[in-house]
Amino acid sequence: MSTNFTPVHSPREPATARYDFVIPANQPWSGFIVKGEAFRIIDLEGCQAVDTLFYNAHDFAERYSGQDTLVAQKAAYLSTGSGIMSNEGRLMARITADTSGFHDTSAGACSCEANTVRFGHHTKYMHACRENFLIEVSKHGMTKRDIVGNINFFMNVPIQPDGSIAIADGVSSPGDYVEMVAEMDVLAVISNCPQVNNPCNGFNPTPVRVLIWAADRN
Ligand SMILES: [Zn+2]
Repeated sequence: MSTNFTPVHSPREPATARYDFVIPANQPWSGFIVKGEAFRIIDLEGCQAVDTLFYNAHDFAERYSGQDTLVAQKAAYLSTGSGIMSNEGRLMARITADTSGFHDTSAGACSCEANTVRFGHHTKYMHACRENFLIEVSKHGMTKRDIVGNINFFMNVPIQPDGSIAIADGVSSPGDYVEMVAEMDVLAVISNCPQVNNPCNGFNPTPVRVLIWAADRN
């Protein structure tokens, strides 16, 4: 793992947040974030992948695009300064603080199908991010076809010199966080990853905390 990462902290205090919620281990979550609001995800116990999608709150057909995001920033991992881009090439949010680094947006979400291929047929019935996303987007009238390639906050996916990728031990420590400011009204959808067959969650899925600050709070 490269070490050229500089942590950037946020001045915002949890006590001034308009929303503060702990997503239990293995569970999905969604919430609306208004343009100008700040959104923080805290990896409470460390080494917990947080699979995340964004949708335009007023038109769900416009949604997060990992491809547009990587092209726009010309870098393989997300961190402070990264613009979170939509499939229409518009800025949805910008990462303004990050104490962990190396957030992936290439490896996608775990699914029963992928588990079966990677880890054996006996894992087919284990709960996966794909199911979490399905449950959560269905609350907003969306279906399978609305789930696209996601951000994996706090997931360590080193890209090798030959171009291959692997899911490696997490690098986030307890309390590490990533914070972003919405550049449009968005719906954020999270799967607090339940994977226990690879090291993305340290083989022990744990809770994460989400906070939202109103635009006039800083
Ligand atoms: Zn997962």
